[in-house]
Amino acid sequence: MTQRHALAIHGGAGTIRRDNMDAATEEAFHEGLRASLRAGHAVLEQGGSALDAVTAAVMALEDNPLFNAGRGAVFTAGGTQEMDAAVMRGEDRGAGAVAGLFGPRNPVLAARAVMERTEHVLLIGEAARAFAASQGIPFASTEYFHTDSRWAALQAELARRSAAAPDMRDDAAKHGTVGAVARDRHGNLAAATSTGGMTGKMPGRVGDSPVIGAGTWADNATCAVSATGHGEYFIRWAAAHDIAARMRYLGETLDAAATHVVDELGKRGGSGGLIAIDREGRISLPFNCAGMYRGLIGTDGVPHTGIYRTPLRP
Ligand code: ASP
Repeated sequence: MTQRHALAIHGGAGTIRRDNMDAATEEAFHEGLRASLRAGHAVLEQGGSALDAVTAAVMALEDNPLFNAGRGAVFTAGGTQEMDAAVMRGEDRGAGAVAGLFGPRNPVLAARAVMERTEHVLLIGEAARAFAASQGIPFASTEYFHTDSRWAALQAELARRSAAAPDMRDDAAKHGTVGAVARDRHGNLAAATSTGGMTGKMPGRVGDSPVIGAGTWADNATCAVSATGHGEYFIRWAAAHDIAARMRYLGETLDAAATHVVDELGKRGGSGGLIAIDREGRISLPFNCAGMYRGLIGTDGVPHTGIYRTPLRP
């Protein structure tokens, strides 16, 4: 077994339009991705677990209002924020998730508590919130989670709907998600995903992120996956699990399996992408849309990040 450890992250995928992005904003996204990579890498470098590394990497992105998870989550059609998150551990397929949650500063910690402190996999809504509170998970105020840009995006979407106008929005403004996958020194894999979902979603709508096998998956025998994109498609195609199944049953490499699933989703209208890692620490970052906020970091500790369909940059 190699001592190699590796981590990959994403901060959402979609039609990320260069003309909507000035140099300073672009740099802020790169810096946010680098901060997340460094947080996860620090855990792996000290011999920590893949699960701790993906948790740390996702928390850094949840705390950053540029990304649609935790602080800066998008709003539902009802003007509320409902967050979904999941974690999965490759050693034993331990998994925990929360959906429709508002309150915990880091929804990924609530998902993790479901995995580690209950006999269940998925808790929702008010009961998930009460559980998180009972576990001493830090909460934040309504003002903390609110960002003017996400609120404006909701108002624009509601106005568009009442005018029955075509949807010309930049995908990156209407949804997004954050996620991480890692392989630690001990050869264990883990995945974590966290999201506010899609702007103007129906209250109560749950996306793919907390659905194990759709937006989140980890199994040491094959791979760990975290997805981002139009969640309904990722659920109906069991996207993350399909990658593991192709590796297991067809003997495909991680990259072949991940690319196949993302291309297939694209042909069906399911825009998005995902990050995946196999038990050797090989990474695949396919997406079928214009861009995906993404990054990776290996044993050398040099973060590489990218937004558009251009090579990652150190
Ligand atoms: N997959 C997320 C959802 O459907 C959104 C996204 O990743 O952009 O909730």
